[in-house]
Amino acid sequence: MREWAVTVSCDVHFAEDGEKVEAWGDPVLLKIGKAEVELDLCAVHRKELDMQTAVWLKAGRRPGQDSRPHRSHRRQSNEYYRKMREFAAERDITIPEERPGKFKYPTKLRADFEAWLATVTADGSDH
Ligand SMILES: [Zn+2]
Repeated sequence: MREWAVTVSCDVHFAEDGEKVEAWGDPVLLKIGKAEVELDLCAVHRKELDMQTAVWLKAGRRPGQDSRPHRSHRRQSNEYYRKMREFAAERDITIPEERPGKFKYPTKLRADFEAWLATVTADGSDH
């Protein structure tokens, strides 16, 4: 009686030079735009894929999740920005302008302003 073993081979190795190298681990599902493929990969090619996609996987989110959930600040009201410009002016801080009227608020200024805003709000006095 003969025994058959099914050996799955690495798709990339096979595509490159017809070599049948045994695949390792679970198949990988890749979906980019309309292209959607399932790949059996050997350890070497799996590692290569992991390394090349690490930055993209880290930046992304799970499908269906809100975009940019990690953004720390939302768009604030015009009043908020006006107050921040006042806050900066009182402290001789120049806010860079991307173009006239379009300010690029430094992260440090925003943090200082929010800290100040919290103290102002905390003691109940507006000015
Ligand atoms: Zn391979």
